[in-house]
Amino acid sequence: MIRIDGSQGEGGGQIVRSSLALAAVTGQSVTLDRVRARRSKPGLMRQHLTAVQAALQVCAAHVEGAQLGSQQLVFRPGVVRAGEYTFRIGTAGSTTLVLQTILPALMTADGVSSITLEGGTHNPLAPSYEFLARAYLPLLARLGPRVTTTLHRPGFFPAGQGRITATVAPSPQLGRFELCERGALVGRKVRALIARLPRHIAQRECQTIAAATGWDESCFEIDEVADAPGPGNAVSIELQFEQVTEVFTGFGQRGVPAELVAQQTLDRARHYLAAGVPVGEHLADQLLLPLGIGAHRRTGGGVFRTLPLSSHSRTHIQILKRFLDVHIEVDETGGGVLVRIDPG
Ligand code: ATP
Repeated sequence: MIRIDGSQGEGGGQIVRSSLALAAVTGQSVTLDRVRARRSKPGLMRQHLTAVQAALQVCAAHVEGAQLGSQQLVFRPGVVRAGEYTFRIGTAGSTTLVLQTILPALMTADGVSSITLEGGTHNPLAPSYEFLARAYLPLLARLGPRVTTTLHRPGFFPAGQGRITATVAPSPQLGRFELCERGALVGRKVRALIARLPRHIAQRECQTIAAATGWDESCFEIDEVADAPGPGNAVSIELQFEQVTEVFTGFGQRGVPAELVAQQTLDRARHYLAAGVPVGEHLADQLLLPLGIGAHRRTGGGVFRTLPLSSHSRTHIQILKRFLDVHIEVDETGGGVLVRIDPG
């Protein structure tokens, strides 16, 4: 039984999700103590509980402590089963984070899976649908697993009820990965998503980014969703390089001008552009897991160049090392930060 202190490092939901994912993939049981101890409302919230239930189903686990607010969780995984799954969060909690929990198990399973997820699809502090589909999954495909997704309906806070489906064609042998250069910039796309709010919000976001960058009109797209369950707005900036695509998403908020939402999103994209590295902060965080699993299985692992690691990523590395027989090296001496993951 592996024991994980949920209050270490970042002390948030990622420790729970990654521990469940790694338990399912490796077949090792885990006890999580002090779950989300560093958050203002500690313990499992709705979104985390759905992640626990999703993980439980995909690997027929025995679980203790799977209740709202629970600060201790025991998870004993069984065998991972590919299949058809539906998970409804019931709030605007992030569907992409629930997918993050079960994807490692299903992408290395022995059959194709179809997953339907309902809840939030565009949440601050979580991967947006665009980030998942355009930045993360194409990189995952380089390791072997092919995951195709469809956004049927966006879900925003507080109404939620968005819907994503994913088809997972797995690859039990994850291959090696190298991403140290991004190559030339070959495309840019700005997508302003607007649901049940005035269209001018999306127009102003596009105008703000167009004025600051001089990008051609053809780079901009407004997607007005007529049948969304609740109001919401998100603006994504997609930067396509020869070797990688990165996505930065900002979220409209009551009381925050559309111009500011757009400007802050552009600032994050420019920070990444100026750094010259291929892998941005969140991609780095999320690549650790598949690379770690590949190295543990002695078929994969690899190296990538990124921005200085976030506290999230540092915590993530500590969790990986508890479950996997891997060697992780973080080299901060050159341009950017080199992260190398090899079999232990
Ligand atoms: P908590 O409420 O405990 O903070 P949480 O479940 O929301 O919990 P975090 O531990 O904060 O989780 O993890 C957030 C996850 O979302 C991480 O995997 C992080 O990489 C990802 N993430 C956050 N912001 C973005 C973003 N802008 N783009 C892509 N991914 C993101």
